[in-house]
Amino acid sequence: MPLQSVLNGAKQCQVLTKRTRQHCKNPAAYGCVSCRMHGAHKSRNVLRGVNHPQYRNGERTRESDEEHRKSSTILLTLRDIGDHIKLFNGDYTRGRKPKGYVKYDMNDPEQLALAILATLREPGNT
Ligand SMILES: [Zn+2]
Repeated sequence: MPLQSVLNGAKQCQVLTKRTRQHCKNPAAYGCVSCRMHGAHKSRNVLRGVNHPQYRNGERTRESDEEHRKSSTILLTLRDIGDHIKLFNGDYTRGRKPKGYVKYDMNDPEQLALAILATLREPGNT
C-alpha cells in the first residue's frame, strides 16, 4: 500500500529500481526528483533564494538580520548600563539574547568603559 503522502498527491521518486525494474514508489524528497534512498541530496537540489517557491519579497536578508542583531546587541548593552545606574525599575529583558552579546561587569570601571564603547556606532551608519 502506498504511503499516505503519495495518496495525497506528493511527488514520487522517478528512479527505476534495480531489483524490480519498476518505478520506485517512495515519495520524492523535498525539492528533489528522487527519494531518500535514490540520491536525494538537499544541499545540491533544493532551490534557494529567489528561485525558492516560498521566496516572498526579500525583506529578510542576511544583511538585514546582521544589522538587526547589531542593533539588538547595542540596545541590550544600553539597557545594562541603564540598569547599572538604576535608570530602570525592572532588572531583566525578555527573550533570547542576540548572538555576539557580551554581558559586561558594570562594577569594573574598565568593563563599563568597554560597554560604553560597544554602544557607539561607526560614523556613516544610521
Ligand atoms: Zn526512490
